Amino acid sequence: MPLPIVAIIGRPNVGKSTLVNRLAGDQQAIVYDQPGITRDRTYRPAFWSDREFQVVDTGGLVFDDDTEFLPLIRQQAMAALQEASVAVFVVDGQAGLTGGDREIADWLRQQSVPVILTVNKCESIENGFMQAAEFWELGLGEPYPVSGIHGSGTGEMLDELITHLPAMDELPDTEEIKVAIVGRPNVGKSSLLNALTGEQRAIVSPVSGTTRDAIDMVVQKGEQTYRLIDTAGIRRKKNVDYGAEFFSINRAFKAIRRSDVVLFVLDVLDGVTEQDLKLAGRIIEEGRAVILILNKWDAVDKDSHTIYDYKKQIMNRLYFMEWAEVIFTSALTGKRVEKILDLVDSSVAEYRRRVSTSVINEVLEEAVSWHSPPTSRQGKQGRIYYGTQVRTEPPTITLFVNDPKRFTDNYRRYIDRQFREQLGFKGTPIRLVWRGKK
Ligand code: GDP
Ligand code: GDP
Repeated sequence: MPLPIVAIIGRPNVGKSTLVNRLAGDQQAIVYDQPGITRDRTYRPAFWSDREFQVVDTGGLVFDDDTEFLPLIRQQAMAALQEASVAVFVVDGQAGLTGGDREIADWLRQQSVPVILTVNKCESIENGFMQAAEFWELGLGEPYPVSGIHGSGTGEMLDELITHLPAMDELPDTEEIKVAIVGRPNVGKSSLLNALTGEQRAIVSPVSGTTRDAIDMVVQKGEQTYRLIDTAGIRRKKNVDYGAEFFSINRAFKAIRRSDVVLFVLDVLDGVTEQDLKLAGRIIEEGRAVILILNKWDAVDKDSHTIYDYKKQIMNRLYFMEWAEVIFTSALTGKRVEKILDLVDSSVAEYRRRVSTSVINEVLEEAVSWHSPPTSRQGKQGRIYYGTQVRTEPPTITLFVNDPKRFTDNYRRYIDRQFREQLGFKGTPIRLVWRGKK
């Protein structure tokens, strides 16, 4: 199950990004800030009590201004809200209730998502409740006074927030494997889909609760069932005007969210383009297993080095996915297409794999004994107490440490690499969460 999403919504300058920083604390965006990954929205992991979720800042929402970019920002906020389990609507307790707040409230009341009304910039407790009181009239329930800067009040707000997160579902769904096929237009997605489903009797099944006309196809290999997500979206395409492109990218994003594994299709003749990087960034943020499909291999003139050269060039740009399985295919001739489902099986097995706490701590002890955590200028050293795998899909390991700030990016990458080398997890991302004493 993906981590639930909490969307932060409100006018510009009410303190949304301050609040996001407060909720996510030291935890970095799931993607390290690496050059080469393009992102639109930033999802940051956060937790409260025993619940983990992701917060996304939707950008400042304004309704009454029609400058060029605003419709797009609104569209983005609406898209974020569609994925969210809870919306945190932030208002400014010092500025008081404004017309802009009312417009956002009107819009939010029409959505089905639960809303936590958060009155920011309420530094003092007594005044805070006074400042918050006038927001009752928005009709969104109890206003929670908080200070994003000082952190006061956020505990009460979060206690309420987590009651709206979906119930935790401990058992992963192992019956079928959900596969998203994504890639730029013309890389060969629908040809691959035909090649994958061609000999099988594909069963078309409409999907409830998703894009109205999303259609999944289900194929069977041996005992295993594969659900190919939103095949209608793969086949329908090629409207090049801006609106349609926005729509189809969102459609790909939705398919990624519903999947266990992403078949990320590239045209080997084009290499890795900017648009590919944007999709790659999204796949990484969602933390899905990935198989890189380098298609149109038939169209390349080859000698014995070619495959290595191509692979090296492509992985140089997609270095943040170096753990992914890679396969060169031709949807046209069918070459190696039948191998794809084998890679799906092995990648998803890793994506769902659980490693015992004792093994994780052996890796940590070994890693720390080779290379001890950095010491700050004040002479304080980082300490890792222990680690444990808290989730699968993807494997997520929480490291309990004295103070996450003492661990530099370099050191974190070193620990990442050690887990990768010792535990494998070929085909799936792994996530490390550095958690200090609260
Ligand atoms: P955003 O545009 O909604 O993301 O707002 P920002 O987080 O950038 O904050 C806008 C301004 O409000 C900044 O000058 C912040 O320092 C200030 N601000 C944010 N949170 C608080 C708060 O809790 N109290 C006070 N007094 N100011 C705040
Ligand atoms: P989609 O837009 O990603 O679904 O791409 P299509 O499957 O519609 O393919 C786009 C074009 O590339 C079509 O003309 C296909 O015939 C061609 N194509 C797809 N796969 C291959 C391949 O493996 N080799 C070659 N040479 N052409 C391919």
